[in-house]
Amino acid sequence: MSEFIVIAGPCAVENEGQIGRIAQAVAKAGASMLRGGAFKPRTSPYSFQGLGEEGFKLLEEAGKNVGLSVVSEVTSPDQLKMFSGMIQIGSRNMQNYELLKAVGDTRLPVLLKRGMCSTIDEWLMSAEYILSRGNKNVMLCERGIRTFETHTRNTLDLGAVAVAKTLTSLPVIVDPSHAAGRAELVEPLALAALAVGADGVMLEVHDDPEKALCDGEQALTPDAFKKLMNRMRELGSVLGKVVGR
Ligand code: PEP
Ligand code: MN
Repeated sequence: MSEFIVIAGPCAVENEGQIGRIAQAVAKAGASMLRGGAFKPRTSPYSFQGLGEEGFKLLEEAGKNVGLSVVSEVTSPDQLKMFSGMIQIGSRNMQNYELLKAVGDTRLPVLLKRGMCSTIDEWLMSAEYILSRGNKNVMLCERGIRTFETHTRNTLDLGAVAVAKTLTSLPVIVDPSHAAGRAELVEPLALAALAVGADGVMLEVHDDPEKALCDGEQALTPDAFKKLMNRMRELGSVLGKVVGR
């Protein structure tokens, strides 16, 4: 039986209570890791930009309280000294080579998201920037690409997951939340990720999606997350995968 990692948490850390409650809920449902953005790369400069360094601290504390390791996006090399969890390189920064070199020089685990307009080869070359500097602890994440389709926020490229699994031995996970853009589509896409052979999923969860400061439309409630965990466990038992903790 191999492990299917489930990373869950809000798009953005908003305050101590919010991240604490969500951490408790996802840990109880069996998540493997807690996510939460501190430096948010938003399309509009007028949207909530994240709590910055304070967000990293609140995330680390919430993770510690529930016994989960944490992942958060870093958008520039100077932020690396502020955080000691798993470093997420976001879609918009997949080809920010100075950032890739900087994380390659650390020995922190890295989650490298695929650029929204990047080919599989470009994605793997970005991973090489990190690996070639000696940091071998890299996980890849497919999060949907830009196509002509408008019903989903991005087009989830599950074919890329199957291809990446043939080209690299790095773990490949899927982010159905940013691909779907709508909460009701997250469950089928997460189950498909498990079926296609991904090594895990990253899911956005919020205890009050309507009031979320970022990406509320695609956030699962804690109840929906628990239900999805059960569905993934059922499918995982057929596929020989242990889902979450
Ligand atoms: C995120 O995971 O918070 C995020 C911003 O995702 P992406 O870089 O895939 O858009
Ligand atoms: Mn988000």
